[in-house]
Amino acid sequence: MQNIVRDGHIHSPYCPHGTSDSFGQYIARALEIGLNEISFTEHLPLPVGFIDDEIREFCSPSASTIAAYLEELEQVKQYYQQRIKINAGFEVDYLEGFEGFTKELLNRYGPRTQDSILSIHFLKVKNQYYCLDATPAMFRELVELLGGVEQVYDAYYQTMLKSIRVDLGRYKPRRIGHPTLVRIFNSIFPFEYKNTALLEQIMLELKARSYEIDFNTAGLRKPYCQELYPSGIFFDLAKRYQIKMVLGSDAHTAQDVGRSFAAELLSGHDKVYDRAIKIPEEKV
Ligand SMILES: [Zn+2]
Ligand SMILES: [Zn+2]
Repeated sequence: MQNIVRDGHIHSPYCPHGTSDSFGQYIARALEIGLNEISFTEHLPLPVGFIDDEIREFCSPSASTIAAYLEELEQVKQYYQQRIKINAGFEVDYLEGFEGFTKELLNRYGPRTQDSILSIHFLKVKNQYYCLDATPAMFRELVELLGGVEQVYDAYYQTMLKSIRVDLGRYKPRRIGHPTLVRIFNSIFPFEYKNTALLEQIMLELKARSYEIDFNTAGLRKPYCQELYPSGIFFDLAKRYQIKMVLGSDAHTAQDVGRSFAAELLSGHDKVYDRAIKIPEEKV
C-alpha cells in the first residue's frame, strides 16, 4: 500500500474565483492529511482585451498581483521548509494566438517557479475566444458554433496538441492540466469521443517531450461531470503510453487539498500512480 504524498495542483488566496483561505490554511490541511510535497499553481494572468473584461477578471488574478503572490509564497516556503516541500508555480493558459504574451510572462516569472501546469480553458473559434468550463450555456454556444459536441471535443484536443508542440520558452510547463476538461458538462452533453488517431498523436507528443499529465480530481466535485480528468479513452491511452500522471486536487479552498486522492487509490487507479507519485522508501 502506497501513501500519496504529493498534491501537484493547488490554488491560492490570489484566485479571484477561489476562497480567501490563506496559504497557511492550505498548508495546514496538507500536513493534516500527511502530504510532504505540494505545488501552488495559481492562474497566470490573461491578456487584457482577449475576452470580455468581466470574464477575464473572474478567471485569473491581475498582472499586478503576480509579484505579491510570488513574494508571499517565497516567505511561506521558507517558513515551512522543515515540514513540507512547497513548489511555487502557475496554471498557465494556452491561448492560441497569444503565445508571445504567455512566453514573455513565463520568461519574467519562470525563474521564481519550480512546478507549473499548462491548461486549456479557452478555445479560439473564428477569431474569438470561448471559455470551455464556465457554464453549460457557454458550452452550448460552442456546440452551436462548431456544429456539434464532437466538434467541440475535436477543437479541444486539436488545441491541446498545439499547446504541447508550441514554443513558450524555457519555462514552459511540462504538465498538461485536467486533460479531459471538455467533459465538465458531460451529463448535459453526453458524448463518447472515439478519435483515437488524434488522441494517440497527443500521447506521442507527450511521450517525446517527457511531459506529464495532471491527474485531477476536481471533476469528481463538478455536478455535471463526476469523473476524474482524465477518464475513459484518454485515460486508457495515457496508461498504455505510460504517460506520467501527477495527482492534483485543483483545490480552491483549503479543505479540498488532497481531496479524493485516497478514494482513487482504492478504486484501482493506483497502478498509474506507481510511476507518478513519490513513495517514501520505508513505506514500500
Ligand atoms: Zn481556478
Ligand atoms: Zn484549470
